[in-house]
Amino acid sequence: MVMRLAVVGAGSIGLAVAWRAAGRGADVTVYDPDPGSGASRVAAGMLAAVTEAQFGEEELLPLMAESVDAWPAFAEKLEDASGAAVGYRDVPTLMVGLDDGDRAEIDRQASLYRSSGRAFEALNGRASRKAEPLLTHRTRGGVLVPGDHAVDPRALHAALLAAVERAGVRIRAERVDDPASLDADQVVLAAGCGSAAFGLPIRPVRGAVLRLRAAPGQPVPRTTVRGWVQGHPVYVVARDNGEVVVGATSDERGFDPTTGTAGAVHDLLRRSIDLVPEIAEYHLDEVTVGFRPAAPDNLPLLGRLDERTIAATGHYRHGIALVPATAEHIAALTAGEASAVHEAFDPLRFEEGS
Ligand SMILES: Cc1cc2nc3c(=O)[nH]c(=O)nc-3n(C[C@H](O)[C@H](O)[C@H](O)COP(=O)(O)OP(=O)(O)OC[C@H]3O[C@@H](n4cnc5c(N)ncnc54)[C@H](O)[C@@H]3O)c2cc1C
Repeated sequence: MVMRLAVVGAGSIGLAVAWRAAGRGADVTVYDPDPGSGASRVAAGMLAAVTEAQFGEEELLPLMAESVDAWPAFAEKLEDASGAAVGYRDVPTLMVGLDDGDRAEIDRQASLYRSSGRAFEALNGRASRKAEPLLTHRTRGGVLVPGDHAVDPRALHAALLAAVERAGVRIRAERVDDPASLDADQVVLAAGCGSAAFGLPIRPVRGAVLRLRAAPGQPVPRTTVRGWVQGHPVYVVARDNGEVVVGATSDERGFDPTTGTAGAVHDLLRRSIDLVPEIAEYHLDEVTVGFRPAAPDNLPLLGRLDERTIAATGHYRHGIALVPATAEHIAALTAGEASAVHEAFDPLRFEEGS
């Protein structure tokens, strides 16, 4: 008998799970009143197993590495299935510092990068500018990470929508209040920050990014540029179509939909222009705010809640990078297979007595 799967949430995570589960033969329905309205349309799209590593989140390194390594094949398969480009950009990431303190911060981070076991190379200022000619002459150098790439999250979401529709998945524009009421054999909760309404320990971490646009013929960075500028992090993610994303702020004030203060936007612009002066010449298209879904330990919630219900949320800052691995592991769980992610990221780990 064909397994009937309901997926709650049509962000990148929910759609990718739906696509992979349909590929395994499941009969899938996705519920979302406004597909693609969540964090997935705000994200910058860094696929960064190394430069996103944070002290205290070391357990995530293997899953990030698995997922980032799966990205090239995933992108190719999705483009074939959807007929749409996802904007996968196979360029390295440069992490640089502007003053000695910033450089020291990168050296401190490098000890963590080393523990990831992934390749990176220390560069002085001159070598950094050779890798990225749009970098300021003031850079003190940093590291070049060949395996940290990027994708266009909006193109990804559009491609996933097309792929699931071609795979026969039904999309119902409905908000789910009670997953138990859904007519399905298995239910995946992938509602991003909306997952808190189902009792999952998820909080919104607000972030704003800027979307800028280079004029035709105007140069954009050929690498993803991340930097420390006078003690503050900033990133610049360019696309081949001339879009340049600058990010990001981070604060915890619940679902405040305002885009942040003028001062916060000014800081992002100033730091990014300090790093890549050409940014001052781009057009500012958008200031967008989104909510990163985060669990108390900032690690995802991936696995069974009960015999019928599976959590696939809490991806925090990494929900685009983690799309391929999440989709494969969660689709396997829906088919009744065991998966290592359940052990590592058990969604019931915060329950009393667990
Ligand atoms: C500023 C910013 C920058 C980021 N940059 C990156 C980056 O560079 N790289 C990276 O990997 N990640 C990044 N992220 C994180 C990434 O965006 C998220 O982790 C990821 O998008 C989460 O995807 P999701 O599908 O779980 O949630 P979402 O994209 O938020 O989707 C959740 C969906 O669930 C729906 N929903 C909610 N409640 C219900 C309900 N009751 N019933 C039905 N549907 C419901 C919503 O309508 C929504 O469409 C960034 C996030 C932000 C905010």
